[in-house]
Amino acid sequence: MEPGDHDRILLSPPLVTDDDVAEVCRGLQSGWAAPAGPILTEFESAIASIVGVSHAVALSSGSTALQLGLNALGVRPGDRVLVPTLTFAAPAFAAVHVGARPVFVDVCSTYGLMDPELLEIAIREIVAQGERVGAIIPVDTFGNPADYSSLLAIADTYGIPVLEDAAEALGAQHELGAAGSIGNAAVISFNGNKIITTAGGGMLVSDDSELIAKVRYWSQQSRSSAPWYEHEEIGYNFRMSSTLASLGLSQSRRLQAIVRHRQQVRSWYRHYLNPDQSIRFLEDPTWGVGNSWLTVVRFDAETQPHTSRRVREFLDHRGIETRPAFKPMHLQPVFLNEPAFVNGNAECFFNEALCMPSGEALQESDVERISELVLACLADRV
Ligand SMILES: *Cc1c(COP(=O)(O)O)cnc(C)c1O
Repeated sequence: MEPGDHDRILLSPPLVTDDDVAEVCRGLQSGWAAPAGPILTEFESAIASIVGVSHAVALSSGSTALQLGLNALGVRPGDRVLVPTLTFAAPAFAAVHVGARPVFVDVCSTYGLMDPELLEIAIREIVAQGERVGAIIPVDTFGNPADYSSLLAIADTYGIPVLEDAAEALGAQHELGAAGSIGNAAVISFNGNKIITTAGGGMLVSDDSELIAKVRYWSQQSRSSAPWYEHEEIGYNFRMSSTLASLGLSQSRRLQAIVRHRQQVRSWYRHYLNPDQSIRFLEDPTWGVGNSWLTVVRFDAETQPHTSRRVREFLDHRGIETRPAFKPMHLQPVFLNEPAFVNGNAECFFNEALCMPSGEALQESDVERISELVLACLADRV
C-alpha cells in the first residue's frame, strides 16, 4: 500500500482488532519482549491443536520454516526437491538455501495443485539420472489442500519425505486431516497477507517430536544447555518474537470466523458475477474444503485473450487491487535452468486467473461494486 492510499481495496490486507492490540499489550507488559517465553508456547499449542498435530515451533517466517523443515527431513546439498511450478517462490528458494536444487512439477487443470502423475514421472527421471530426491513439497495453493492421497502413495513408494507447504491453508481440511497435519511436517505462514497474521512469521508443525525439537534448537542459534554459549552445530536466529506470537494467538482465536467470512466473500462474488457465464471460479477440491483464503476467478484466455490483464488494469485504475495467479517457477528468470515437468496448466492459470480482493474487512457492498466493475469491463461498457 502506498502512503495515503487508505481507500484502495487490497487483495488480502491484515485486519488487527482492538482485542488483538490488547493481547499484544498484555504480552509486552508480561516482560517477554523476546524470542522466548510462555506466549510462544501458548501460540504453538493453539496452532498445533487447530491443525491436529502434537508439536509445533514458531519461527520468523514460513520461508525459514521451509528451510529448517528441509534440513530436518534430511535434505542434503546436491539433492533435488520437487516443487509444484504454480506456487509462491518460497519452497523453491528454501531448496536452494539448504544446498539442494528444485525440480518443478506442473499442476492439475482444475485446481492448480501438484499433478501426481507428473510427480511420479519426474521422480523416475531424476533417479534414472543418478540424482537423489531429498523431499517433495506439495503446496496447498490458494488455501486448497493438495491431492495427498495420490501424492503420499507416490512418496511412500519411493521413500521420499513430504514437507507440506500449508502456508496459505491454515483452517482448510483434507479428508485425511486438516491442512498441515498430512506430510511428515508442514509449514504455516503468518505473513501480513495470509489468513491470520503475526505481522510476519511462520510455524513448523509435525507429530514428530524429535524433528520439531531439532528445528527449535537450530532456530535458537543451536545453543546447547550450558551456563555459557555452547554450540555443537551451526545455528540460525529464526525464532519468532514473543510479541508477534501475542498477535497470532489473538488472531488464531477467530480463525473459524475469518474462514467463514472469506467463504461468504466468495459466495458474494458468485452471486454478483453470476450474469457472466464465461467467468469460472476456482472451486474447493473434491477431497476437501479449502479455507477460501483468496477468491480466484478465471477468464477463458482462448476466446477472450488478455481478459485477465484487462480486468486487472481496469480495477487497478479504480483503486482495487487484484493479482494474476502465480507466475510459474519454471518461467522465472532465476530458475530457467532447472528441470521442469510441465503440461501447460500452470501457464494457463497464470494467463487466465485473477485473485480477487478477499480480505476479512470486505463487505457485501464492496464485492457488489467490484463485481459490477468487472462485468462492465467485460461488456466493454467503459
Ligand atoms: C506466503 C508463502 C510462503 C512463505 O511464507 P512467509 O511467511 O511469507 O515467509 C511459502 N509458501 C507459500 C505457498 C506461501 O504462500
